[in-house]
Amino acid sequence: MEITLDSIRSAAHRIAPHVLRTPLVQAWDISSKGSLFVKPETLQVTGSMKVRGAMNALLMLNQSARDRGVITASSGNHGPALAWAARQLGTRCTVCLSSLVPTNKIANVERWGGTVRIEGGCYDEASEAAVRLSEQEGMTLVPGFDHPDIIAGAGTSGLEIIEDLPEADTILAPLSGGGLLAGIAIAVKSISPRTRVIGVSMERGASMHESLKVGRPVNVAEEDSLADALGGSIGLNNQWTFPAVAKFVDETVLVSEEMIAEAMRRMFRNAGLVVEGAGAVGLAAFLQHGRDIAAGRTVIVASGRNVDMDRFVELMSVRMSN
Ligand SMILES: *Cc1c(COP(=O)(O)O)cnc(C)c1O
Repeated sequence: MEITLDSIRSAAHRIAPHVLRTPLVQAWDISSKGSLFVKPETLQVTGSMKVRGAMNALLMLNQSARDRGVITASSGNHGPALAWAARQLGTRCTVCLSSLVPTNKIANVERWGGTVRIEGGCYDEASEAAVRLSEQEGMTLVPGFDHPDIIAGAGTSGLEIIEDLPEADTILAPLSGGGLLAGIAIAVKSISPRTRVIGVSMERGASMHESLKVGRPVNVAEEDSLADALGGSIGLNNQWTFPAVAKFVDETVLVSEEMIAEAMRRMFRNAGLVVEGAGAVGLAAFLQHGRDIAAGRTVIVASGRNVDMDRFVELMSVRMSN
């Protein structure tokens, strides 16, 4: 089996009745140094692009798999997205979260009808717990990123970008487990091979970036970061996202915590968008690495908006660097 442009087109058709087709908006005022466009996945229900993969994966399950209820692990946004999608389809959903996840993300799962179980002290441990519980209790495991249906679902955002801006030169997308980036890269490269697709992670704990360097999946220690939704490793038994990212993505780059904060401020003050750290890394990469990585018409995937509001207000009150 292979994930192709066709699987992404089918996913787009499948999720269309449920998931928002987000616009691509020119970000006139975010930087004078380039022609930037933002894909505001912040507008999705549950506040992130994760509803694309979650809904596609659930719609691909047969009825008996759905009837057993679904279980997953989440570093933040996959949980609420799966809970919402499950409720839409009348399915029960359990989400394993590590004790590292901020309290607003626990509330977020419950708000959309999911049941939270706190398992382990980091995402990788929560992920192992979800596998174990699915076997013990007979629930259907829906992985957060390393699954063809999740990748195809996430890739629908890339399909929309290249439909809306066929002349895009560069796409900067957040990178954690790689479901989003793999999906975007497969869609975009199939239609426009010349468009550069770049994955962005935080300096603190970039599992895919390290894995690509050594040529096999490696785990990294999970550190506190503004981009908390990008925490966690790609999994030592990674099957799908590692090879797809290695094959289709042009480059991966890292950004500092200071640049993530600056990017969040610019998204808010200059574009009126509330964007969480993970969703701001694309702009952070543009600010930090500039023309070295992104020439011409550049698309920034603003992947989510789930940030603790007290923290957000605190960050916004800091003066911008220029
Ligand atoms: C999950 C997530 C990502 C990264 O997606 P992966 O498929 O794990 O690489 C980026 N941004 C936000 C807001 C997310 O929730």
